[in-house]
Amino acid sequence: MFASSPAYEQGPIRPPSEAGSLLLRLTRNCPWNRCLFCPVYKGDKFSRRSLDEIKNDIGSMAEAAEKIRILSLESGFGGEVNRQVAAKVQAGHPDLFQVAFWLFRGGENVFLQDGDSLLLPVDDLVEALRFLKEKFPSITRITTYARSRTLLRRSVEDFRRLKKAGLSRIHVGLESGNDAVLEYMQKGVSGAQHVEAGKRVKAAGLSLSEYVILGLGGKKMWRDHALDSARVLNAINPDYIRVRTLAVPSASPLYEKVRNGEFELMPDDDVIREEKLFIERLQGIDSYFYSDHILNLLEEVNGKLPEDKNSMLEVIDRYLQLPAVEREQFCLGRRTGYFRTIDDMQNASLSKPVEKSYRQLQEKGISVDEYIKKLMLRFI
Ligand code: SF4
Repeated sequence: MFASSPAYEQGPIRPPSEAGSLLLRLTRNCPWNRCLFCPVYKGDKFSRRSLDEIKNDIGSMAEAAEKIRILSLESGFGGEVNRQVAAKVQAGHPDLFQVAFWLFRGGENVFLQDGDSLLLPVDDLVEALRFLKEKFPSITRITTYARSRTLLRRSVEDFRRLKKAGLSRIHVGLESGNDAVLEYMQKGVSGAQHVEAGKRVKAAGLSLSEYVILGLGGKKMWRDHALDSARVLNAINPDYIRVRTLAVPSASPLYEKVRNGEFELMPDDDVIREEKLFIERLQGIDSYFYSDHILNLLEEVNGKLPEDKNSMLEVIDRYLQLPAVEREQFCLGRRTGYFRTIDDMQNASLSKPVEKSYRQLQEKGISVDEYIKKLMLRFI
């Protein structure tokens, strides 16, 4: 019934909170690409996409939306993209499915890819945002990743223009506030630069989401990592603080340093102690704190600061006060997908298979911690 849909580009990643967003690629890969812990764009060259290319992609997405609307009309759904229409698109027109699924979810959120969109000229960004909103008036939120170093090349006035054109939120990989950790990991930015970049974004009224990697200091620097990350975030007061836990796949340069013993990964319990210290030191800010990444052991440590700080710390204490065997079993259950919360351990249908795996590992003399580290790589 339809000619094949025009192609539009997609990058490899987006933040977990953008799972339902339409993905629009403004640049390809990462212009820095040196962070030791990051496997994502290694071996891939960075390039900026031209405004024409970006507008062509937006046009292709709008054409896809129109085809889906016609399919809905022809199917008797009056142009609405409901579950039945989305299912029909998935079955018969998989090339249109991403747009159909997005429209089914409301067609409101867009994420701009890849790793550092604000490297594009501000005028081009403003025009791309304007064109995007013109084609899709249903859009209410547009977000992007950006490096702090790149944000420092933009003024508060630049950010105000971008906000006015439709940009809502910037996701920044803070990773750590500690200069030694940042330098070791070759992040290419200092804690002070993170602070200045974050303050500029906030001053323009844009929403700011900062990511911290738990465990990034390793056994040697964990304490300074926790303290300085809290100190830097206290100075920024971002709208969101999001944590993810370090895992080291073989594609990341850090892998070799772990293998040769130069960098020592922390066991889950020590990462949780680090997280406790980190949260304790978050002061004078009103950020939302989220553990919304599958790599985090305690997914239920979430809340609004400062009022939920104690309840977040109580979750951590509850875990740390479990007997050692139960902590190991919780880690195993979490990493094998049985447990999401500590209460899940009370559910026999979830805990029985975990206890069985735990016994089998012990009988074979396999370290639960080593086994878990391998399991975590599945989630990267
Ligand atoms: S700046 Fe971000 S995308 Fe680029 S290498 Fe570092 S962590 Fe990876």
